[in-house]
Amino acid sequence: MPHELAMAASMDAEDAIALLQLLAKDHVVSLQFLVYHRDCPSDVPRAPIYVQAFTDGWPLFPLQCDECDEPIQADEAEIQLSARIEGRLPRFNVAAK
Ligand SMILES: [Zn+2]
Repeated sequence: MPHELAMAASMDAEDAIALLQLLAKDHVVSLQFLVYHRDCPSDVPRAPIYVQAFTDGWPLFPLQCDECDEPIQADEAEIQLSARIEGRLPRFNVAAK
């Protein structure tokens, strides 16, 4: 989701993540970390192995993959990290003056 925001707003991924963190910090949105097991040998469709609110901090590793039962370290080779907004962004009435 940060990557889609970055592309849509012509910003880099780090700026998109920083913007999302700022919105979450001010409780404008509720953000969740999504942790995927990058090379899971399971045949099931890819789903996050762990979901945690941004406000609860960084996920604690190692995590356990529910699909293949392997322990997952916080290593970029083992995980794919994403984020999503829970709910919708608020709409503001911006009237032209
Ligand atoms: Zn797995």
